[in-house]
Amino acid sequence: MKALFESFSKLVAKIRGLTYIDEETLREILKEIQRTLLKADVSVEIVYSITKNIEKKFKESKVPEGVHPKDYLLYLLYTELVNALGGDVPPQVDIPKRPYKLMLVGIEGCGKTTSAAKLAYFYTKNKKLKVGLIQTDVHRPGAREQLKQLAEKIGVPFYGDPGHGDPYRIAQEGIEHMLKRGVDLIIIDTAGRHKSETELMEEIKRLYDIVKPDEVMLVIDATSGKQAAAQAEAFMKYVPIHSIFVTKMDSTARGGGALMSVIKTGAKIKFIGTGEDVEEIEIFNPRRFVARLLGLGDLETLVEKIRALEEEEKIVKEVEKEIEEGKITLLTLKKQLETIMKLGPLSKLFELLPTSMFPAPVLKNISDEQLQLTQQKLKRWYAILQSMTMEELLNPDILDASRIRRIARGSGTSPKEVRELLQYYQLIKRLVSDMKKSRKRLPKSLLKQIDINLGELGM
Ligand code: GDP
Ligand code: MG
Repeated sequence: MKALFESFSKLVAKIRGLTYIDEETLREILKEIQRTLLKADVSVEIVYSITKNIEKKFKESKVPEGVHPKDYLLYLLYTELVNALGGDVPPQVDIPKRPYKLMLVGIEGCGKTTSAAKLAYFYTKNKKLKVGLIQTDVHRPGAREQLKQLAEKIGVPFYGDPGHGDPYRIAQEGIEHMLKRGVDLIIIDTAGRHKSETELMEEIKRLYDIVKPDEVMLVIDATSGKQAAAQAEAFMKYVPIHSIFVTKMDSTARGGGALMSVIKTGAKIKFIGTGEDVEEIEIFNPRRFVARLLGLGDLETLVEKIRALEEEEKIVKEVEKEIEEGKITLLTLKKQLETIMKLGPLSKLFELLPTSMFPAPVLKNISDEQLQLTQQKLKRWYAILQSMTMEELLNPDILDASRIRRIARGSGTSPKEVRELLQYYQLIKRLVSDMKKSRKRLPKSLLKQIDINLGELGM
């Protein structure tokens, strides 16, 4: 994947080198992104939609405070690429039942036989399954020997043509052979070439009807770039394709194109092959792949930070709205604390905290010790809120002595602390409703005003 990585790391270096981003630099960078993607053989329409989305989001959404615009741009590039590659969640590779029949299909030379062996290795070693390999390819000379040797190398049972040359019988006999040996996962390799394409597809279809596989995995060669989709569609006319194995990711700059092209067909990429050896197999993880593609070790941290900030933005708005409507509940408080704890002193909500609510005043130049005390207190209050039921959070009036005892026990705090939190909540509520009555516009930092009153409570 070296070539692919090189062109992306150049792009990233360019973005990282920006000091400010105006209309013109943005346009230039978007063009650079397009060039890089096209070079990776990503189809024009996907390239266009990726850059369009980045442009739109960059212009429309506010760059979160504390984040440099160039980092935000990288973040957008990252998210768009992850989405184009199948989204946030890595594929599920565990087999859902035993025995499980997995049939591999794909054109000749794409790496089916090698990948069959890699899968046998992967499931034997990482999932501790008993795996068996069947070769039904009778067209390619040496196909039987090839898989037999690989099976021996890994140490798994093998079944191939005993001499009759009938792929359908081999499949049937092979499955019986494996079932007798108590194999959990039966992997069936198939031919990739026949007298004609139609004949190949018909053979695959008939094998499918006989084998009745639980999963059909299409093997695609990464060097086929954006042509990968056409290959996938050709097979899909004959058999359902459940998953995809993209091979030879190590030897091409067009791997990105192949990956994005097959995603379009709706099938999920499960594995990638990164070399000729049986160990060179990886579960395809879009997030990890893109982070590596962009060559950013720290990208995940950046992404987490930006996500939390965006979430905070939403919660700040929600809280402000609830305050404005005088509808503040313990759930409001809980959400607030959640975000504060995630973002720490970075948080805008943190600054909203009344300064005497906690042992330490939340000021700009707060000492580490004070900060720690504040955070400890926050954690205890959050634990209390976590021990409450949704009903209690939304309707704190029902909290009687026995509920308070239960909550204290559940959160490892004391009833006194639970009462303290409730007093604090009542106070905010009173203030909010007083302010509403006096029809004053509520200041955003309303909570700061509570300082004075909290003093009276001895908190
Ligand atoms: P089949 O015709 O689809 O069964 O393909 P084979 O498994 O025989 O593989 C064709 C060629 O591709 C062989 O030389 C393999 O070593 C090679 N190959 C398969 N997978 C990979 C891979 O992930 N990386 C590299 N570099 N070569 C691979
Ligand atoms: Mg083969």
